[in-house]
Amino acid sequence: MRILPPLTHKIEPHSAGNYSRLFFVYPGMLYSFEHSSEQKSIETDIIIIGAGPVGLFAVFEAGLLKMRCQLVDVLSQPGGQLTEIYPKKPIYDIPGCPGVLAADLVQNLLRQIEPFHPGFTLGERATTVEKQADGRWQVVTDRGTVLTAPVIFIAGGLGCFEPRKPPIDNIEQFEEKGVEYFVRNPDIYRNQRVVIAGGGDSALDWTIYLANVARELTLIHRRTEFRGALDSVEKVQHLAQTGKIKIVTNAQVTGLQGNSKLEHVVVQHDTEGEFKLEADHFVPLFGLTPKLGPIAEWGLAVDKGAIEVNTLDYSTNVPGIFAIGDINTYPGKLKLILCGFHEATLACQSAFTFANPGKKLSFKYTTVTGIDGLPATAVL
Ligand SMILES: Cc1cc2nc3c(=O)[nH]c(=O)nc-3n(C[C@H](O)[C@H](O)[C@H](O)COP(=O)(O)OP(=O)(O)OC[C@H]3O[C@@H](n4cnc5c(N)ncnc54)[C@H](O)[C@@H]3O)c2cc1C
Repeated sequence: MRILPPLTHKIEPHSAGNYSRLFFVYPGMLYSFEHSSEQKSIETDIIIIGAGPVGLFAVFEAGLLKMRCQLVDVLSQPGGQLTEIYPKKPIYDIPGCPGVLAADLVQNLLRQIEPFHPGFTLGERATTVEKQADGRWQVVTDRGTVLTAPVIFIAGGLGCFEPRKPPIDNIEQFEEKGVEYFVRNPDIYRNQRVVIAGGGDSALDWTIYLANVARELTLIHRRTEFRGALDSVEKVQHLAQTGKIKIVTNAQVTGLQGNSKLEHVVVQHDTEGEFKLEADHFVPLFGLTPKLGPIAEWGLAVDKGAIEVNTLDYSTNVPGIFAIGDINTYPGKLKLILCGFHEATLACQSAFTFANPGKKLSFKYTTVTGIDGLPATAVL
């Protein structure tokens, strides 16, 4: 599994608070998310937990009904499994697309929802869900962001992707004090001494990206050969040859040292023995495994790790909470993107009625309404 670094990236100070706004530019689109050092409160119409393809498409269907959405994802980029597991694989069973690369499908979805201006709370895990006195739901993330809305869509796919941690005895002592398993905010590495460990695409991609950000960057891999894409391996080797980074192969980080924060990593080399490297950050990128995580504790009916839903509208046993995409289960369930799109569409209809009791829902084709911000195809 891999985490793709952004193609381009800049940080600008946000005028209203003590946080920076990150702009990630993908071909043809721009979107942003914020990393806050203060607790943030966000009010919206639908909180969507999971920014995989199904969560993204739900924004579109909700937008047609004039409902605003805030997407929360523990990963630093949208796309779920498509971005994490198989960005370069072609998908052939999306209706109307004879073949589309997973990463391109994510970009198309982002482009499609742009007119509805969804909010993104990325790099944050939704940890608790509680009903408020006014009947709305409150979701709190592991970074203290508080989201409030009448409706929650759980589009959590296989669950939270959890990092595979290296077997270093005191690693937990340095978590958030120099050890990070995800690159959530690349700017924290600016002018820092960074050690990345791993031999797959994530380790290579972030090495390439952070080579221009960090003061010193060392990539450590326990084998000689890297598993990642050939062009990434060549780029990393070129960076090493031109002195921008150091590569240490046949070695592993076996210890971490520091007082209040990380100061050194201890490296065990297969032939040269043990040595220490000065480091402000250690980023082990050994892949991710999905776990249902906190969702399992929200009082929802769960069967074999998936949330049971009513196929009428993909509502759960808790009014106001819907579950769509790979995270749900019902007789005949197929874990396919197009099935998730259908589920999102029906869930939005019920979400509208739930959030606006007594208000009439009128069904209209997009060919009739059009969508400001999306291209109109010329009619002969
Ligand atoms: C190798 C491979 C090939 C595939 N090929 C196809 C194919 O050809 N056609 C097809 O239709 N399907 C295919 N699939 C299946 C498809 O990828 C899934 O059906 C699809 O990704 C489900 O989308 P989703 O949005 O429901 O969930 P996901 O894509 O899993 O996204 C869920 C998101 O929720 C986030 N999340 C979970 N819990 C939390 C939390 N508590 N807080 C914050 N964030 C959270 C996760 O980080 C993740 O980003 C394939 C899958 C794999 C692995």
